[in-house]
Amino acid sequence: MKAAVLEEVDRIRLKEVGTPRCTEDTVLVRVDACAVCGTDVKALRHGHAMMQLPVIPGHELAGTIVEVGSEVHGYYDSERVTVAPAVPCGACFYCRRGHSTVCENLLDIGSRWDGGFAEYMLVPEAALRSGAVNKLPDGLSSEAAALTEPLACCLNAQEQLWVGPGDTVLVIGCGPMGCLNGMLARTLGAAGVYMTDVSADRLRLAEVVGADGYFLNEDSRLEADIKGATDDRGADVVIVACGSAAAQEQAVGLVAPRGRLNYFGGLPRGSGAIAFDSNRIHYQELTLVGNHGSTPLQNHKALALIASGQVDAQKIVTHTFDLERIEDALCTAESQEGLKVLVRPHD
Ligand SMILES: [Zn+2]
Ligand SMILES: [Zn+2]
Repeated sequence: MKAAVLEEVDRIRLKEVGTPRCTEDTVLVRVDACAVCGTDVKALRHGHAMMQLPVIPGHELAGTIVEVGSEVHGYYDSERVTVAPAVPCGACFYCRRGHSTVCENLLDIGSRWDGGFAEYMLVPEAALRSGAVNKLPDGLSSEAAALTEPLACCLNAQEQLWVGPGDTVLVIGCGPMGCLNGMLARTLGAAGVYMTDVSADRLRLAEVVGADGYFLNEDSRLEADIKGATDDRGADVVIVACGSAAAQEQAVGLVAPRGRLNYFGGLPRGSGAIAFDSNRIHYQELTLVGNHGSTPLQNHKALALIASGQVDAQKIVTHTFDLERIEDALCTAESQEGLKVLVRPHD
């Protein structure tokens, strides 16, 4: 089969490799669509702590089952599925508390196991056992279903922020994850959704969110803009959906009293030390949280939100490439000229 193999930093190559063999406790999936994640671009440029190279990356995918191991129950040939890539062990201290995004033994499809930038992908036994494989309802496109995992990551954040009716939500950073966060906040009942970015072009792309306001983040105007939209309070919820220390510091000043703040985007390794006035947290009784990844349950819920049309995730797809053009797909995502980039391994 054809597969994109990440061989070393800055080198991903389309190669002919052996199609994975379906063993008794695994399922073989034909990959129908696999989206490019910021993590894929980061892994290409800087490597990834969890990755053993060479590996086939790609973890936001939907596919069709073509072979089922003899010991696997409940999955059948020709069923369409999406696979949550983060596979928790189910047995460690955090898993037993239900906090599987911080599982001590977390393994990932697309880094520990070969992922979706290939014609076929093997779903490991651990993924089947952890509930990571969800079946697609008829009529749901593979392109939309491939966005299940990124939406699940937003759900992980907004569940911890308990976003709900009446909240005003400000999203800093209008990349694909910022846009999905904006859409999800609306679905969860937010009274006002506001988007901001340092780039006017990104802000224009974020119109797919259908937000209540779009603010260019320049010349320290943002605080006045968000206060103007919220009766001078600030936003109840601020989600920093970009990897920017400046945005993380700025965000603390944009939250309303009793509000909640989420560092959704991570900073490059070694540069996580930032400075802000902690008295804002203390006297305004703010809650500051961070999130990454998602649980199998959140993937299940995210798929339901997409399938029911409550989150029109496919609106963020701006580019689609054949697998042969994997490098162009990654470079397009890296250039930030569009939003979500999809790869289709089969014509
Ligand atoms: Zn991802
Ligand atoms: Zn665990």
